[in-house]
Amino acid sequence: MAFRSKPKHSGGLKDPMLHMAPVSAASSNGLFNYPSNAGSHTSTTAPTGPGYAPSKRRLPLRKVENASITGWLEAMKDSSPPRTRCHPQVDVYDKSEFEAIDMEYKAWAANHPSAVENFEKLIEAASGKRIFVFLDYDGTLSPIVENPECAFMPDEMRTVVKEIATLFPTAIITGRSREKVYEFVQLPELYYAGSHGMDIMGPAEGCNGCKAQGIRALNEEGNEVVLFQPASEFTTIMNEIFKLLEEKASKVSGAKVEHNKFCVSVHFRRVKEEDWLPLAEQVQHVLRSYPNLCLTQGRKVLEVRPLIMWNKGKALDFLLKTLGFGSRSDVFPIYIGDDQTDEDAFKTVVRRKHGLAILVSNVVKETNATSSLQDPNEVLEFLQLLVKWKRRHLNRLCKYLE
Ligand SMILES: [Mg+2]
Repeated sequence: MAFRSKPKHSGGLKDPMLHMAPVSAASSNGLFNYPSNAGSHTSTTAPTGPGYAPSKRRLPLRKVENASITGWLEAMKDSSPPRTRCHPQVDVYDKSEFEAIDMEYKAWAANHPSAVENFEKLIEAASGKRIFVFLDYDGTLSPIVENPECAFMPDEMRTVVKEIATLFPTAIITGRSREKVYEFVQLPELYYAGSHGMDIMGPAEGCNGCKAQGIRALNEEGNEVVLFQPASEFTTIMNEIFKLLEEKASKVSGAKVEHNKFCVSVHFRRVKEEDWLPLAEQVQHVLRSYPNLCLTQGRKVLEVRPLIMWNKGKALDFLLKTLGFGSRSDVFPIYIGDDQTDEDAFKTVVRRKHGLAILVSNVVKETNATSSLQDPNEVLEFLQLLVKWKRRHLNRLCKYLE
């Protein structure tokens, strides 16, 4: 389907951010062309936006036929640790067990220093560089809750994220659908990368002076936005898989299937542990007919995604390139996330040599992140410190120029 730039407004669309025609990355615009194979179910596609040459290298994702269900479940359990390390009185641990876990955490935290406690030291490296802020949503800006529909962001967090966006180019990179996360966040000044970065949209010109390159459209207020959907040709397949998985999940008590546009999530959070294996087997059974899709796991969730060369790290790189900072060495990205899918973004930040990769966790985790925050409350505290630091810096600059 050809993309119409700057479409006329049409009411009735559900997207709270946009009233626009359906978008295909394979547009005739030429900026983001890439080969189409979504219907063929045969091979892996790779987008070719600015700076993105096609690659034959496989994504490091688990393909359905190559991974055992037991492995998935073990990995899922590993990525779903108890969240109550700090409250042994209400946890399953006895006191000695808690103390052992606490000691292990302290040893881990020594290698992943708190981004709040060590703020001044960590931010020192950003001096003279352009900071970009990338934030995961669930478990980072909002607490993890039983019902994913109720993962609301506290007002205090919204206020500080808004302030951050006035000072630095800021993006939310999430596994949720872009529309869903926008409903939660409600800040049009941000860039939104939904479906693990496969559905990117944001202001063409940010309030912090950054101008984005790329395919443009108008939002419902008539403002220009840029957008990029490297997996747009999988739309029909993802709709199909959602229906099939929803039917299977309806037979398992507590299971919930969420359609995140280019990612379908099967939530195990409310499923009894003895039902995990049968449910995972059902997911595997459905996916056998879709070799161009793959399965990844997060915190009590299995996710079905297009098997393309794309992830949160690629989305971070893409956003920097779109904003004209892709190859510059004076860039300092800060990425904050809590889940397995954030590891690709941590790797990207570490690879760039300048930046902060911050894992949100109050338990020991294997991670590529270099520092940590315990929970969304500490994320709030870190963002508030960042706002104060930048304002202090700007005030000093103003006084110097007077
Ligand atoms: Mg998360």
